[in-house]
Amino acid sequence: MTDYSEYELATRAVRAGQQRSDEGEHSEAIYPTSSFVFSSAAEAAARFSGDQPGNIYSRFTNPTVRTFEERLASMEGGQRCVATSSGMSAILATCAGLLEAGDHIVSSRSIFGTTTLLFSNVLSRFGIETTFVSLSDINSWEAAIRPETRMLFLETPSNPLTELCDIKQLSALAHSHGCLLVVDNCFCTPVLQQPLALGADIVIHSATKYLDGQGRCIGGAVVGDDERVGRDVYGFLRTAGPTMSPFNAWVFLKGLETLSLRMQAHCSSALGIAQWLETQAAVTRVYHPGLASHPQHELASRQQQGYGGIVSFELQGGQQAAWSLIDSLQIFSITANLGDAKSTVTHPATTTHGRLTAEQREEAGISDGLIRLAVGLEDTHDLQNDLAAGLSA
Ligand SMILES: *Cc1c(COP(=O)(O)O)cnc(C)c1O
Repeated sequence: MTDYSEYELATRAVRAGQQRSDEGEHSEAIYPTSSFVFSSAAEAAARFSGDQPGNIYSRFTNPTVRTFEERLASMEGGQRCVATSSGMSAILATCAGLLEAGDHIVSSRSIFGTTTLLFSNVLSRFGIETTFVSLSDINSWEAAIRPETRMLFLETPSNPLTELCDIKQLSALAHSHGCLLVVDNCFCTPVLQQPLALGADIVIHSATKYLDGQGRCIGGAVVGDDERVGRDVYGFLRTAGPTMSPFNAWVFLKGLETLSLRMQAHCSSALGIAQWLETQAAVTRVYHPGLASHPQHELASRQQQGYGGIVSFELQGGQQAAWSLIDSLQIFSITANLGDAKSTVTHPATTTHGRLTAEQREEAGISDGLIRLAVGLEDTHDLQNDLAAGLSA
């Protein structure tokens, strides 16, 4: 197999990991098989004992899944990637593979809602405690670290307020305390941000979002080194079972091939819409890292190769105004998913953050007038006109 490690990211996204079968197929093959056949009893024994490498069973390895893993590992600059059945199982497998009862996690408070529940309601029952801190405040991370802390966990930029964390700075802090730094890179993808190169130890993906790019499949991935990911996280996965199906791996492979182009388009359209929203009288505040008004614009320019497809904004008039704008939109889909070719709109206060108390929402900066857009691949002016019609109504 060709080594693509010296090529640019867009080339690796199209080419890395493919191993053609004897049929000479140009596009990657899908291998929908649960098990693999051995030529003899002795070969079966050698495979099972590990003396001979090769496929045994698709919970352990599958050629289509392996191609996806090798391609994403190459794009993130990691030694190993393991694919999972969802983004959540990627986070679970990372924690279950690397932590044990008595260990402690320090996590950003501004993470995907289900990840918060996994930490506080599930891992807690297995003796793993989590302290939540403010994403951009390095002092609060340091203050929360204890002797038993093993892992720091974050997403940057955050959802929906696009707050950033300096990954390089946090990785220095993590390593000085013997902790692993785990970054959920779902919002940026390797096209816009490579956390491993900035000092992170593990990168997590919900492949469901931009890696798929067309809202079709649920999947996830963990990227890192041979020991932690290749041995420990993989060891949990092959035993516990939340692995990726070959069909989903194939859809994500096709998604990776267009990821660079799509991310550029998401970024340029989102920035255009964010800049335009800033000029609208009914809009009191716009959140997007590409805006000069963003408090961490300089960090975003240094740490990322683009500002992403998420734009949030606050409307005068609270929930009523937000809901009536959302209901007036003709193009944007009212759905919580993101990273799709189709633009989506959500009202965080009554959906993704609806289970928080009013005080928790206020602390998190989620006002009743806040709207989140995940800008898709439709024409930017059509999207802008859709919003303009809603704002003037
Ligand atoms: C969606 C999402 C997840 C969870 O991924 P699933 O594929 O839905 O399990 C985790 N992190 C972030 C940032 C997400 O947006």
